[in-house]
Amino acid sequence: MQKAVYPGSFDPVTYGHLDIIERASFLFDEVIVGVIANPRKIPAFTMEERKEMLEKVTKKFKNVKIELFSGLLVDFVKSQGARVIIRGLRAISDFEYEMQLAFTNRSLAHDVETMFLLTNMNYAYINSGLVKEIASLGGRLEDLVPEEIIPYLKKRFPKE
Ligand code: ADP
Repeated sequence: MQKAVYPGSFDPVTYGHLDIIERASFLFDEVIVGVIANPRKIPAFTMEERKEMLEKVTKKFKNVKIELFSGLLVDFVKSQGARVIIRGLRAISDFEYEMQLAFTNRSLAHDVETMFLLTNMNYAYINSGLVKEIASLGGRLEDLVPEEIIPYLKKRFPKE
């Protein structure tokens, strides 16, 4: 059974993330979406909220599960019985950071591979930061995140 881990902050999950999850779920027997507990930036949503949002939008994929993790990614990957890390690539701007991350993880664990899935062109411009900015300004979110996520954003960024 081939398992893959898709790690990220998912603060919150966007259509870009969901597209990567869907495509990974066709390629692997099981996809574990790993919500990072200790992101570099202070998140807008708690780990539990981020997990809950991911669970709502991935309900339809039977081989996808959501887990929270802290500590080293490669340790989490091994604890899940997986050998593959999935990351999404949007633009060249993602590449340098992603390459550094992949090399670091390879040096920490030679038996764990990183695989990149190229973004769906329609979602290439979407990131969680942009979503939060639009939400805080009261803009239209329908093209950026699944509808289940909108109430969470409205609650977190209420209109003045
Ligand atoms: P991180 O804080 O680890 O970058 P994110 O939640 O921002 O976590 O992203 C998780 C992964 O999803 C990363 O590999 C990122 O490149 C990818 N990703 C984010 N947005 C998109 C998108 N619109 N299309 C494809 N991949 C994306």
